[in-house]
Amino acid sequence: MRNLFKLYRNLKPFILMILGAIVLTFLQVMANLELPTLMSNIVDKGIITGDIAYIWKEGGYMLLIAGGGVLCAILASLMAVRTAMGLGKILRNKVFDHVEHFSLHEFNKFGASTLLTRTTNDITQIQMSTIWLLTMTENALFTSVGALILAHSADPQLTRILYVVLPIVALVIVIVSILVVPLFGLVQKQIDKITRVVRENITGIRVVRAFNRIDHEKERFARANADVTNTYIRVNHIMAVLMPLMMMLLNVVTVAVLWFGSKRIDTGNLSIGPMLAFMQYALQILIALVMLTVLFIQLPRGAAASDRVMAVLETVPEISDSSDPKHIVAMTRGQVRFDDVTFSYDGGEEPALSNITFEAHAGETTAIIGSTGSGKSTLVNLIPRFYEVDSGKVLVDGVDVRDLTQQDLRSRIGFVPQKAILFTGTVADNIRYGKEDATDEEIVHAATVAQAAEFIETMPDGYATMLSEGGLNLSGGQKQRLAIARALVRRPEIYVFDDSFSALDFKTDAKLRAALRGETRDATVIIVAQRVGSIMNADRIIVLNEGKVAGIGTHKELMATCDVYREIVYSQLSEEELA
Ligand code: ADP
Ligand code: MG
Repeated sequence: MRNLFKLYRNLKPFILMILGAIVLTFLQVMANLELPTLMSNIVDKGIITGDIAYIWKEGGYMLLIAGGGVLCAILASLMAVRTAMGLGKILRNKVFDHVEHFSLHEFNKFGASTLLTRTTNDITQIQMSTIWLLTMTENALFTSVGALILAHSADPQLTRILYVVLPIVALVIVIVSILVVPLFGLVQKQIDKITRVVRENITGIRVVRAFNRIDHEKERFARANADVTNTYIRVNHIMAVLMPLMMMLLNVVTVAVLWFGSKRIDTGNLSIGPMLAFMQYALQILIALVMLTVLFIQLPRGAAASDRVMAVLETVPEISDSSDPKHIVAMTRGQVRFDDVTFSYDGGEEPALSNITFEAHAGETTAIIGSTGSGKSTLVNLIPRFYEVDSGKVLVDGVDVRDLTQQDLRSRIGFVPQKAILFTGTVADNIRYGKEDATDEEIVHAATVAQAAEFIETMPDGYATMLSEGGLNLSGGQKQRLAIARALVRRPEIYVFDDSFSALDFKTDAKLRAALRGETRDATVIIVAQRVGSIMNADRIIVLNEGKVAGIGTHKELMATCDVYREIVYSQLSEEELA
């Protein structure tokens, strides 16, 4: 609940709107409260005395007031909806902005599906709660207080009936809230799960098909779906009891008012008009309380959703810019140095990297090789500071990456991740992602070096060809080459290729490497590779084994000194190739 109100700090721009909604709701309630008194007058002074003119006059007045009430209600709800939608927009932007600053560490912690539901479903819940708070709640509060006062002034004796019934109603509402609220917490989690299943299925559709797991996945979805449905059904079971119970109480009140009221009319202590007015007030109070019940149910949902949204907003990204960022002043350009670096993932028992020390220089190619899971990707992810090291230092041109702004650091790096990621947009857009102001020539040049120009030109619209979501209409090798072109167009000081040539055939691989050499002559090139053949000529080869450096040197040196390297080499190359 606290979090909901924290989020409401974002409502500042809507202050006038909110005040408007409150005032209009108040006017609407006043109008509604006026009606029973008017009716009481019509009965007592018009019907009983037979004064037709009075009935017409008061009746017309009643219609006018009722109409005004409806108008106020409409305007109030318009303002409330506007406010709630505005709040939703602000919150969605905030969450999105904030998540953009997460390091991979925080992404791993939350998981993608819950971040998705938090920006969509949860914020919708907050919007709903806001609408309820701004209209229904006030309406119910004003009405119950006002009607109670007026009922009391109509006949203090009959008010005793309400003193008996209202506590019962309150009790029912509390019991229902206690039963229902936890169920809605559950619903939120179950919706997370549905999102997860759907997401995995959409991104993994090829695997699902290839392994004939459609039925299995259907079942998985059906289960998640059934869970939510069942929870909702349980909620509705409770609500199904609530409504008739409330109706019964309403009827009990009506009968009691008629019973005791007519007795008091018999003794001449009360006239018919006030009794009817009293009955109306009693009904208004009860209906207001039923509306409050809905609020008691919606508000905790909004509160639960707020907790989840706040959890995102309050997560301080592990990686943030130092308050006193340094600038690179060294004469070196793009030198990367690891100084006794140890790093472990959350929940990993053993460090993924331990005591890594090496240097990569400008104008040289540094290769990293090792079996899968040896920590190659982890190592290169530390250069753009995707993760924070446990101990030791990663330095770029002599400055600790933690002392540089992330913007500055990353502008120096052309990073090609192991899995090529493309965005919806044209081929040119995707390459230009690396350098916003790249000219067409620069883009074509980058594509040519990346050996992508050839296949791009055979595409229907060339560089203007739209890529469907994530580049689904491209082969793995084509995607890799576009990702490489994206890094090349930046002309960075440091190139990082994380196994980026794995989906290329030998011929393209060789051509690309040859073209790259010319392109990256002055830069620091760090290549993660599986194939020994493609890194044999590197200036420096770092052999990783279970997160530790097993050897550093040229191919020749390593062949002479490093067992792990020799093993890799012998497993891949035949004797002639080695000779
Ligand atoms: P490589 O790229 O050499 O195949 P990685 O650097 O991807 O290896 O992985 C090194 C080790 O770290 C592996 O044991 C892997 O299970 C673990 N690992 C990789 N990514 C994560 C992650 N996001 N969370 C936890 N452990 C991870
Ligand atoms: Mg890897």
